[in-house]
Amino acid sequence: MDNLPSIFSVALPDLEAWAVARNEPGYRARQILHWLYRKRATRFAEMSDLSERLRVELAREFRLEPLSCLRRTGSRDTTQKFLFRLKDDNLIESVLIPANPALYGLPSDRKTLCVSTQVGCAYGCKFCASGLEGWTRNLDSGEIAEQILRVEALSGEKINNIVFMGMGEPLANYQNVLRAVEIIRAPWGIGIGSRHITLSTSGLVPRIRDLADQSLQIRLAVSLHGATDAVREKIMPINRKYNLSALIEACAYYAQKKRQRITFEYILIENVNDGLDQAAALALLANRLKAKINLIPYNTVQGLSWKRPSQTRQRTFLRALERSGVDATIRREKGHDIDAACGQLRLQTLRESLKGKGAASDKSFAGSGNLR
Ligand code: SAH
Ligand code: SF4
Repeated sequence: MDNLPSIFSVALPDLEAWAVARNEPGYRARQILHWLYRKRATRFAEMSDLSERLRVELAREFRLEPLSCLRRTGSRDTTQKFLFRLKDDNLIESVLIPANPALYGLPSDRKTLCVSTQVGCAYGCKFCASGLEGWTRNLDSGEIAEQILRVEALSGEKINNIVFMGMGEPLANYQNVLRAVEIIRAPWGIGIGSRHITLSTSGLVPRIRDLADQSLQIRLAVSLHGATDAVREKIMPINRKYNLSALIEACAYYAQKKRQRITFEYILIENVNDGLDQAAALALLANRLKAKINLIPYNTVQGLSWKRPSQTRQRTFLRALERSGVDATIRREKGHDIDAACGQLRLQTLRESLKGKGAASDKSFAGSGNLR
């Protein structure tokens, strides 16, 4: 039963084909999707306008049980974090961010969900909690899309903006992420438009080019975090494979194909990348691409010694960019106090359970095969 595909991985054309192959009219697919995405059914048995036979066949071939939420932090007006346990006991997290106009210049009634795309991450950026424990597996597209449905059900909020900035490198799970985007965008699915979907990447150059060649209009954010190879290489191993000049070329290609301004994310880490020499180099790169810059004051990660620079140093860096004519903002991290950066709640839970306290005493968590 456990390895059945998630029903949330199935797009309309495939579900139509599935119904027709079972001697049912193709429009059954739309009925099923209506139950899933409009009425938010959590059991096939609820789908009362389908025949008993079809409901049984659905249950035999697809998984529908909701993601189980192990932990939740934050409150309605702050960033909220949700730790989910997958069917194989792996842990992922999603972060619900209240209106934050500074984020992408969106209207202030936006509710943004930051979704995970992998369990762990193979890219090992030196400052990131998600990379600390390595990569375990890719999420399937249903597990990605379902994070949105589950957080809406748990929080009572309507999410209208999605960022692929949770755990994992979305472009390293390319096919599943594209399928999830299809389900998130579709009018028969979750129905959030492309322009409200942002994918963040640490810089997988060939995949940025592939994404540029797709007809999708999703937004691209690129984690730069260093404006010269020497600095970027120190904190992001991927820079040895795809250096800054290759990355910037790929970004330029994306921006030109999509007629879109991309965003550079730049974490400010004290005495690593927050000097004025980096600000000057960053301004050159941003101006060349007419890119926006999102400065993110570093969130400390337990066990890592990197620090967030003082407010004065942050402001000095921002001013230097602005004086060079760059459109830059500092993301006021509302979730700093609840460890909002990706992968941190999971890491904390894994560590607590290894020490035999906290979540390990929770029956639903005990026996997880994921404790390394
Ligand atoms: N793998 C993708 C997307 C997930 S990470 C990427 O790297 O872009 C999403 C963003 O969170 C990235 O910009 C990442 O660098 C940033 N991030 C990771 N750890 C952080 C921390 N401790 N404080 C602030 N931002 C962090
Ligand atoms: Fe992976 Fe992104 Fe974290 Fe780097 S910053 S380790 S690419 S999740």
